[in-house]
Amino acid sequence: MKRERQQNIEMNFSILIQILALQCLAVVCVSREFDFYYFVQQWPASYCDTKRSCCYPKTGKPAEDFSIHGLWPNYRDGTYPANCDSVNLFNDSKITDLESRLEKDWPSLACPSSDGMRFWGHEWDKHGTCSESFLDQHSYFKAALDLKNKANLLQALNNAGIKPADGKYYSLESIKDAIKEATGYTPYIDCNVDASRKYHQLYQVYMCVEASGSEFINCPLLPHGRSCTSQVEFPSFSHIKPAHQEL
Ligand code: 5GP
Ligand code: 5GP
Repeated sequence: MKRERQQNIEMNFSILIQILALQCLAVVCVSREFDFYYFVQQWPASYCDTKRSCCYPKTGKPAEDFSIHGLWPNYRDGTYPANCDSVNLFNDSKITDLESRLEKDWPSLACPSSDGMRFWGHEWDKHGTCSESFLDQHSYFKAALDLKNKANLLQALNNAGIKPADGKYYSLESIKDAIKEATGYTPYIDCNVDASRKYHQLYQVYMCVEASGSEFINCPLLPHGRSCTSQVEFPSFSHIKPAHQEL
């Protein structure tokens, strides 16, 4: 009787070890897929006032606010996976309930004008499929939309007196400090130049996010972006007229 109990205990212990080993393996396998995300938001005026110009979405000129560029799985060594699942490509029917939020917060400014589907589809196929073990297509887009609300970059800058204005320059440090003050995390700022190619301007804001897609983290690694001068413009979007507008 005692021996039988001892055998049972040993068997249960061995099953427990096997379950734990499988779980560890699963964690290791999953965490090998990627380490963290870059959550990238773009400033529409800086996308539009370049030599390339832009086109407004079919739904009209977006509001003067940051918009989502993408949520990109990344490795700690700076490399990143892309186009991870050719079978699970973008399916618009999975995000119908998110469409109005996507139109507002993730508009496409590329030409020709579109309703955004092509941009969202590109982002899911290239980046989203690489984190699908954490976020299915619906959760991926919802996570990005929720992160945008959480960061609330325009408000963060406004709170520090940093408002969109042409010909006005802000120090790069003051921009980073304002975002850190509001979100708790220092962003990476990517700059570009306007059509005159003279002035550096705030173009994209990178923040880092842990693998489940809900919490910001300190960036394990800074991206390779275009560097900024120490003073940058934060151009106004209200005066911008796209060069190629297809209505
Ligand atoms: P760009 O050369 O304009 O910075 O980037 C072109 C595209 O490459 C981006 O839109 C994005 O799809 C991808 N990309 C650039 N840098 C990174 C990065 O650091 N991580 C990831 N995951 N994708 C990147
Ligand atoms: P990535 O740079 O993420 O690989 O790809 C961006 C792609 O989406 C490019 O082909 C770009 O033309 C297209 N795209 C469409 N709308 C936008 C937009 O508003 N911003 C950016 N950065 N790319 C857009």
